[in-house]
Amino acid sequence: MENNYEQIAQDMQAVIHQMKIDDIEENPDSEFELFNCSACAKDEALAGSIQYSNYRLCNNCVLMYELSLKLGKVKNIDEFMQKMEDNRLSNICDFIKKDSLGEKN
Ligand SMILES: [Zn+2]
Repeated sequence: MENNYEQIAQDMQAVIHQMKIDDIEENPDSEFELFNCSACAKDEALAGSIQYSNYRLCNNCVLMYELSLKLGKVKNIDEFMQKMEDNRLSNICDFIKKDSLGEKN
């Protein structure tokens, strides 16, 4: 089972990474154009991102979502977003911490 998971993860990673490369080839600017990822709340490159219903996910989160789907951890994007909630909140907290540190300097 573990080996199976590793294999799935590796295959998926290659596919998702390729999407980013394809996007950059098609539109070189997309590597540097940022958007705020709905799942992890980080500013990420448009390249390799995907729109799922109301949410746009960065390349990393697309990988996590597709893996979660594949492994049956979530059934749809809404369920994934719920699972990402804690993650997202902690990222937002990091930003706040960083911002307040920046102001002191
Ligand atoms: Zn993300």
